[in-house]
Amino acid sequence: MDSKSFRENAHRVVDWMADYLENVEKFPVKSQVAPREIFDRLPAEAPQEGESFDTIMEDFTTLIVPGITHWQSPKFFAYFPANSSYPSVLAEMLTSTLAAQCMIWDTSPAAAELEEKVLNWLKTMLGLPQSWNGAIQDSASSATLVAVLTAREKYSLYNINEHGFKGHDNYRIYCSTETHSSVEKAVKIAGLGRSNLVKIDVDHQLAMVPEKLKEAIERDIDEGNRPICVVAALGTTGTVAVDPLHELADICHKYNVWLHVDAAYAGSALILPEYRWMIDGIDSVDSFVFNPHKWLFTNFDCSAYFVRDKEALLQTFEILPEYLKTASRGQVNDYRDWGVQLGRRFRALKLWFVIREYGVKGLQATLKHHIHIAREMENAVLEHPDFELMTQRMLNVICFRYHPRECNDIDFLNKMNEKILQRVNKSGKAFLTHTKVRGQYTIRMVIGQTRVEKRHVTETWELLQETAQQVGDVLL
Ligand SMILES: *Cc1c(COP(=O)(O)O)cnc(C)c1O
Repeated sequence: MDSKSFRENAHRVVDWMADYLENVEKFPVKSQVAPREIFDRLPAEAPQEGESFDTIMEDFTTLIVPGITHWQSPKFFAYFPANSSYPSVLAEMLTSTLAAQCMIWDTSPAAAELEEKVLNWLKTMLGLPQSWNGAIQDSASSATLVAVLTAREKYSLYNINEHGFKGHDNYRIYCSTETHSSVEKAVKIAGLGRSNLVKIDVDHQLAMVPEKLKEAIERDIDEGNRPICVVAALGTTGTVAVDPLHELADICHKYNVWLHVDAAYAGSALILPEYRWMIDGIDSVDSFVFNPHKWLFTNFDCSAYFVRDKEALLQTFEILPEYLKTASRGQVNDYRDWGVQLGRRFRALKLWFVIREYGVKGLQATLKHHIHIAREMENAVLEHPDFELMTQRMLNVICFRYHPRECNDIDFLNKMNEKILQRVNKSGKAFLTHTKVRGQYTIRMVIGQTRVEKRHVTETWELLQETAQQVGDVLL
């Protein structure tokens, strides 16, 4: 492809992008293809001769798009959103055109300095301590791994980096039973061992019970173990339960334990001052992550990771091979020392475009709008005699189930709600996922898609009621 055809094709692609985003709600939200269907339709061998862009684009629309689940559909209510927005997509186009490798300051000073600046903006926008430092990680899972590794190194006096695990096999990590699976993954990768991850009980709102944490830490100390890290959830993935940060921070301070905050989803809500109660106690937190790629309209991947003690982070990850030695070292941020990756994409650009194009007020208004529609959906569930909330609504996430009054068998209710959800998703008209609340099958509805309006929620609520009725008629 030469520059002239690139230009023509790029215009066509942009037209496709705009058409797609304008019409995205017409696609079946969850892809309806069967397992292996796409694989079997693709040729077994790579082409020997180059093909025309027309043919490739044709196959993209006929073969690939049907196998896509449309995360940008306003009827995507599943998991947590992985939102994009027009300014973010435009920035991604520029990023892929520059295709810069932003491992150190010298490899693109603007990337390093924009990253530092935009993360400073976020600190102010979210109400995080001004003295913290931040870096963009590829995902919250990576950020949590970075936090666990930093805690491991800090408490081993950087000896595990140096000599391996000898004599350090009794380190203990704590999180609630509701915390995201990325903590378990981090503990495994960090070599700490899954059996050293202590899961702390939760209260009726599914938030960690500080007293239980304190007991677990004291028991471990008595038994000769070394508590090194607590991971607090600011918004669990199941139900957006918020662990009581202030009390956890006091305990961590008392026992000299690293406190990492996983605010992957709910962190975005901190741009609304009325949700800052969630970070009461933030001054004594050691590290914090949230995902602008979830609910801040910035394309995946973009996780904002902040630390109180930059030196501990750098000391854990720093490497300095001869070919990466530069004259600027020490005066600038070389982000390859701020996490696992050496090579890094220029991810700050899309965040910068999004924050500027929306403005802080525009972002606040959009989040408020989502929370407002979610409150209306919550009321609809509360008013319906045969539906019930399974937990208190938090932000824009509603956890509920169908529960006809005459029916009280838990297994039966579980099965019925599973069927309802499967049917709704199979219709292609909306996509929702589930969680379990105290063993009970619970439908989750996350109202946070960039383009979601009240009518999308109303239509989906009607679909849920009809489907529940139909499934109920068959099963009851
Ligand atoms: C989504 C989520 C994660 C994982 O996020 P990734 O960026 O996909 O790694 C971690 N913790 C919580 C609470 C989440 O909601």
